[in-house]
Amino acid sequence: MGHLDARTLLIAEIPILLLVGGLILAAALLGRRERTLGWTGAALLLMGVGFLLGVADPGSAWQQSVSRFGALLILAHACVWTGLRAFSGKPPLWLWIVAGPLAWFAVCQWPGFVFSGVARGIAYGLPTLAYTGAALWELGFDPRGKGGNTKLAILPSGMLLLHGLLTVVRMVAVSLSEPGTGRLRTDFPMAVFEGMLFFIGVAFAVLMMVGARSERRYRHAALHDALTDLANRRALYEQGGDMLRDARAQGRTVALLMCDLDRFKRINDDCGHEAGDRVLAAFAGVLRRVVRKGDLCARIGGEEFVVLAPDMDAEGALGLAERIREQLRQCDCQVCEPLSVSIGVVCAPRGDDDLGTLLARADRAMYRAKDAGRDRACLWTEDPEAGVSAAVAGGGGGRAGQHPVDA
Ligand code: GH3
Ligand code: MG
Ligand code: MG
Repeated sequence: MGHLDARTLLIAEIPILLLVGGLILAAALLGRRERTLGWTGAALLLMGVGFLLGVADPGSAWQQSVSRFGALLILAHACVWTGLRAFSGKPPLWLWIVAGPLAWFAVCQWPGFVFSGVARGIAYGLPTLAYTGAALWELGFDPRGKGGNTKLAILPSGMLLLHGLLTVVRMVAVSLSEPGTGRLRTDFPMAVFEGMLFFIGVAFAVLMMVGARSERRYRHAALHDALTDLANRRALYEQGGDMLRDARAQGRTVALLMCDLDRFKRINDDCGHEAGDRVLAAFAGVLRRVVRKGDLCARIGGEEFVVLAPDMDAEGALGLAERIREQLRQCDCQVCEPLSVSIGVVCAPRGDDDLGTLLARADRAMYRAKDAGRDRACLWTEDPEAGVSAAVAGGGGGRAGQHPVDA
């Protein structure tokens, strides 16, 4: 590529950089308001403006042209790094952002420097290498930098690594070459071309990362309850349906617990809605603590929660209900009312009932627990004579054991 004319190449790249940079910046300002996109768009625009200044008057004001051109390109690297910092929620480090371009600008004031290819190559390479390395660090070593998606971080990391390596190669090559006074070195067009490919490549990789993270956030919001961050009703039907299908295919037992906080309205009325919210969040914490890893906890209504537990029989489910009640009793929510919960338990021996049926049965068992005086668990069982019956486990004071209740 040594025969390529650098000036023509710069002119050809300017509209591409300005267009792509402008579009990304517009997307950041008008749409998602992602600071990462803003910084990345700014990086492309700065590079485009740098190229514009580079070709504007390369003959008569060489020193000025070189100093502006280099400073803007170094600043563009700082913007890529800052964009990746913004992706992990970190603020811009202004001092470090301007340090590289200012250092370049300062050394450019010395005429001997501007006309030395070696000095230029090293002085431009060092800050860009530092920003590229810092950007790579944000992606590779800060867990937040990946935005929870290691696979998507591979693409920009690879590009940063390659860009850094090429910068090192260029610095070594220029140091070994004859220290001539030529204004444009023969590898200059290649560096310009690689720079553009790098910036546009990184911009698209960042766009993909931002897009994937937004999608993950929206999906999380669609499937989780905002107050407790437990699964919501939709997630229960999605994931619970899969769980039951698996259990049915493998002939395994599944238990479902329907939990309804007792006299919750009174907590709201007597202690305030905020105290009620605190109790709901605390109950979600209780569920998280007592369930096993593969169990599914969901908030399906105001103060109604469901636990779906695969590989759990009736005895295990009643034990789990006891632990939930016990943990809730010990919970310190600073509310004026004592806390208790009524739990309806149902077991599908071979996962052979659908979720709707299990929920309806657990609901009936839960109402039976309410009727029996609240603060207890009640197991739904099939009764050949009455059709439905239930057994109560642990009543009032938290006694364990089963007490059959009339259908
Ligand atoms: P029971 O023992 O029969 O279950 O009585 P309860 O008071 O718990 O049941 P009820 O259905 O009468 O009241 C439920 C209350 O839950 C009514 C509603 O104001 C409250 N609630 C629903 N969602 C929220 C919420 O997100 N935050 C708060 N603080 N309260 C909520
Ligand atoms: Mg209720
Ligand atoms: Mg209730």
